[in-house]
Amino acid sequence: MSYSQDEFMPFSRPTLSEEAIAEVVSCLRSGWITTGPRVKRFEDDLKTYTGAPFALALSSATAGLHLALAALRLNPGDEVITSPMTFAATLNTIVIAGGRPVLVDVEAASYNIDISRVESAITPRTRAIVPVHFAGVPVDLDPLYALAAKHGLRVIEDAAHAIGTEYKGRRIGSFGDTQVFSFHPNKNITTGEGGAVATRDEKLAADIALTRFHGMDREAWNRFGKTGAAHYEIIAPGFKYNMMDIQAALGIHQLPALAGFIRRRTDLAQRYLTTLADWPQWQLPKAPAYAHLPAWHLFAPLLNPAAAKMDRDRFMAEMKARNIGTAVHYRAAHLYPYYRDRYGYQPGDFPYAETISERIVSLPLFPTMSDADQDRVIGAMSDIFARS
Ligand SMILES: *Cc1c(COP(=O)(O)O)cnc(C)c1O
Repeated sequence: MSYSQDEFMPFSRPTLSEEAIAEVVSCLRSGWITTGPRVKRFEDDLKTYTGAPFALALSSATAGLHLALAALRLNPGDEVITSPMTFAATLNTIVIAGGRPVLVDVEAASYNIDISRVESAITPRTRAIVPVHFAGVPVDLDPLYALAAKHGLRVIEDAAHAIGTEYKGRRIGSFGDTQVFSFHPNKNITTGEGGAVATRDEKLAADIALTRFHGMDREAWNRFGKTGAAHYEIIAPGFKYNMMDIQAALGIHQLPALAGFIRRRTDLAQRYLTTLADWPQWQLPKAPAYAHLPAWHLFAPLLNPAAAKMDRDRFMAEMKARNIGTAVHYRAAHLYPYYRDRYGYQPGDFPYAETISERIVSLPLFPTMSDADQDRVIGAMSDIFARS
């Protein structure tokens, strides 16, 4: 099925099977709608899929970043290195966990943090690195983990875009320290809102299991069930970041569909890459040289304003006027008022991120997008540039 000309085509759209919808209905009818057996099953499925020994389902990836960072027990002045080319949650959670975000510019080609610049940002106060796998292209993790080992740093991968991504034949989540996945509706699989932390660190997993649900000991979510203990203890002041069974009902059907979603995303991305290869208006994303399989969360080229004779925002408005949605992922995080005011960041601090920030645009890409839908997007762009 395709979108018609007079229908608005969004830049992203979740793909929910009838089985997933029926599972939500069964969950609602079961009488157990919050954290319970479906969350347990989704966590088991996530462990199997990622190969991580521990997987904790949560209300969002933001919650996952928060809890993983909070578990580091940062002291005032402790630093966490990350990328300016990310969603605000990456920096916000560092600040909320008591850390100072220290930014390192990205590479022009992949928009991922430039590993060759990370070491010079490490100080005696550095505690962790939070790399972001932008658009589902993996960060160069071997040199990153080598640096982390050399300096005794934790690595919390913001893998919000990267469920299903492979780096040198290994799935993100199957190796390394800790990964945080997002299941927001725009992401590669969705549970409505939702997220998960995968880790190989048993202590961190235990810490998150506690802090995600009030700091209650044991399986307190089950305290109203037949097998649950009536009483609980509070071992730490915790948050309310648990995932509901209603959400997990979607997740247990989304995960087996992920391979097919990524195949379709890859086909569409290849089609964009081939079709737009010679257009002077676009600078297309370039794959890093190391072996990897991207999850193609986004297709986000840079608009060349000189050749297009317009800026990115005007281009987006022209697309919208043609009933086609596009999006910006992301404006460089250091230039948001809070980060400028609090840490003194200024334009010019991270030139690659700033150029990307001004020019990047996410074109429509989602598994149910038809070839005809994509032709409509390409036709609209060619019309816009022909008139400019
Ligand atoms: C979506 C996203 C998040 C936050 O995910 P939520 O599940 O919405 O909390 C964090 N980091 C990046 C890079 C994201 O794209």
